[in-house]
Amino acid sequence: MKENLAFESLLIHAGKTTDSLTGAVNRPIYQTSTFKQKALGEHLGYEYSRTKNPTREGVESLITALEGAKFGFAFASGMAALATTLSLFKSGDEIIILSNVYGGTFRLIDKVFSNFNIIYRIFEEKDISKLEDFISNKTKAILYETPANPLLNVVSIEQISSIAKKKGILSIVDNTFMSPYLQNPLKFGADIVVHSATKYLGGHSDLVAGLVVCNDELLGERLGFLQNSIGAVLAPNDSFLLIRGIKTLALRMQRHSENTLFLAEFLSKHEAVSKVYYPGLKSDENYTLHNKQAKSGGGMLSFVLKKNYDYKTFFKSTNIITLAESLGGVESLLCHPASMTHASIPREIRLKMGIEDELIRLSVGIEDKEDLKADLNEAIQRAKL
Ligand SMILES: *Cc1c(COP(=O)(O)O)cnc(C)c1O
Repeated sequence: MKENLAFESLLIHAGKTTDSLTGAVNRPIYQTSTFKQKALGEHLGYEYSRTKNPTREGVESLITALEGAKFGFAFASGMAALATTLSLFKSGDEIIILSNVYGGTFRLIDKVFSNFNIIYRIFEEKDISKLEDFISNKTKAILYETPANPLLNVVSIEQISSIAKKKGILSIVDNTFMSPYLQNPLKFGADIVVHSATKYLGGHSDLVAGLVVCNDELLGERLGFLQNSIGAVLAPNDSFLLIRGIKTLALRMQRHSENTLFLAEFLSKHEAVSKVYYPGLKSDENYTLHNKQAKSGGGMLSFVLKKNYDYKTFFKSTNIITLAESLGGVESLLCHPASMTHASIPREIRLKMGIEDELIRLSVGIEDKEDLKADLNEAIQRAKL
């Protein structure tokens, strides 16, 4: 019955998010490591919380429904989710990543998995059709994000999935920036979807969590085995908070998108701004492709201040918009990619990638859009040289 529900109803009613024992409408926090067994091998389906915990099971069954998946797993962070996923591979395997994957993901592959001889190559072409020739006989997977940080580049999930299928490799999409409300990569043929649930799914900047979903039976079994073997699982308390956050995902994402489009339009007409990156803007080069696979532009935008404005002054001049790492929460956050998320990339390479010193990334919250516009405008005026 629940399969026929609209996404907004699934957020509230899908998965095991109530309690059959007491009728509680919220899944309780099962703060326990172990479960009593009546006799040898006789138990109620729970033995040890690393393997299975009812509160974590709640959020796992919920994300499974929301991404239209068959299997779902919850982890202690987005990085734990990615590390567990990458543990599917073995020495000698090669993974292709797109050049603009999340910095932590690059570090994990470049500095950790490379020690286990899991090699990577970076695909830098804009033209995805060239990917097919880029895949070698060692390639086992491609890992990417769309839209990607911080320039919000968009690639076709359908096109990458079909190339991956043809070549017999896995495609893994980090769907953090969109959330399952805006984009469902499995529908377009992706094999595995990963989320940093710290961002939009949690939505309130009050927890760190990661999620992984897939459809394939064998993959699901292997990921479940790895989750239990590695043990980087989400705790019951955070599972509860995450379920609570997810209930309002649709409302929040609608507001994030509405506010972001409003600010993107404002900034693109502003005399102090030389460029705005937002796939929800009709004038954005990614607009058509993005809107084929996503419901709207989402809550992330980047823009470039002209050289006659001092970006450092701008960053200390906002009033309600906060300078901080992270994104996807109810409050608006500013980030300076050149010195924060992309600081480890040498300046010359960074400039070639389009990450100028004057590039500003904004995670637009759900505050009143006029207040946000006024705050941005005032900070820009103060930054004028
Ligand atoms: C934040 C983030 C991650 C890492 O997630 P954590 O929850 O911080 O471990 C991975 N991918 C993307 C796109 C992110 O924004």
